[in-house]
Amino acid sequence: MKKPLTLANAETATFECTFGRGCEGLCCKNGEPSATEVERLRIEAVLPRAMELMRPVARDAIEQLGWLTDEIKLGHPMVRVADEWCVFFNEGCVLHKLGAQEGDFSKYKPIQCSLFPLEPNGDGSWYVRQWDVDGEEWDLFCLNPENSAKRAAESLAPELAVAAQLPADFAWETA
Ligand code: SF4
Repeated sequence: MKKPLTLANAETATFECTFGRGCEGLCCKNGEPSATEVERLRIEAVLPRAMELMRPVARDAIEQLGWLTDEIKLGHPMVRVADEWCVFFNEGCVLHKLGAQEGDFSKYKPIQCSLFPLEPNGDGSWYVRQWDVDGEEWDLFCLNPENSAKRAAESLAPELAVAAQLPADFAWETA
């Protein structure tokens, strides 16, 4: 039986996603995820449906160059950006929407996106990215622990449920 997931900063971390309520989706503007080979195949399979929901500029970029770039991040090729936003962003993540329609928001999104802002410690435990934790470098406002009083251990329940399904030695590079 799997052990319950440990969140190292559960007592102190706060987080609240305000997408659509003040945040226009900034994590999809400068998050720049990469995709594993398994994710590449999964996204390729759903790409025709995703393309129908995309911004025209993103569709054009994909038709000309593909949705993956040659740049490597965390061991995997990065998802393309078009006009400053991830190609899969169009007033929200189209991969998220397609997965949610099938009952699982994480079904098609890269795992880096599905888990954000969770980070593995490498020993089976996780922590919530916060400006004051482990030298966090991303200046994204929602990582400021003073941005919200909501306990991350509760507000991140969907992301924690995804993390709980992963092996104890999960690492981005070997995902
Ligand atoms: S794949 Fe989706 S969640 Fe991830 S950055 Fe792109 S639009 Fe955002």
